[in-house]
Amino acid sequence: MNVAFLSIGSNIGDRLDHLTEAVRALHQNEKTTVTVISSIYETAPVGYTDQADFLNLVVKIETELDPFALLELCQQIEQELGRERIIRWGPRTVDLDILLYNNDNIEAENLTIPHPRMYERAFVLVPLIDVASDFIHPKTGRQLLDEVADQADGSVRLWKTIEGVQAFLRKEK
Ligand code: ATP
Ligand code: CA
Ligand code: CA
Repeated sequence: MNVAFLSIGSNIGDRLDHLTEAVRALHQNEKTTVTVISSIYETAPVGYTDQADFLNLVVKIETELDPFALLELCQQIEQELGRERIIRWGPRTVDLDILLYNNDNIEAENLTIPHPRMYERAFVLVPLIDVASDFIHPKTGRQLLDEVADQADGSVRLWKTIEGVQAFLRKEK
């Protein structure tokens, strides 16, 4: 079985509902199980800053899908939840990014794993610590906690504590 970590974000409409429906859709895929979920964080936009704050979380999944099929599933979920691409890094109902897939390194035209910008992004690293606290940054060899401490600027705030996948999906139903 393959293990992957996904980052999910939303900053349009009912943000919590979009996160919940995205996690539910992943979990309902017959080849994928969401095994661990982070808490939810409210985060200031990065890249294109003239937009609303995001809610972000990270999930750990087990999947029989290969990385490209997993990307397709992510994009299908984005479509179903009404994502439109208008501005690069602009507002979105939901965004699913594949952070890590096993220990694979992939550099294809439509897919780069590990996600090329994940280590610069506190909104990715803070929730990732919830689900993979002992993860070591591959380039610096430091704990994620130390990487995040260097980036700490108040742009990522705990918004809601989540007590597990089942509780999350049940509560928001
Ligand atoms: P960023 O990638 O900086 O977070 P974004 O999420 O706003 O920006 P999108 O418009 O969602 O960017 O995606 C652009 C393209 O990125 C997608 O069409 C997809 O093919 C490609 N892509 C490459 N690597 C990944 C990855 N690891 N996870 C998800 N998409 C990826
Ligand atoms: Ca993204
Ligand atoms: Ca994306």
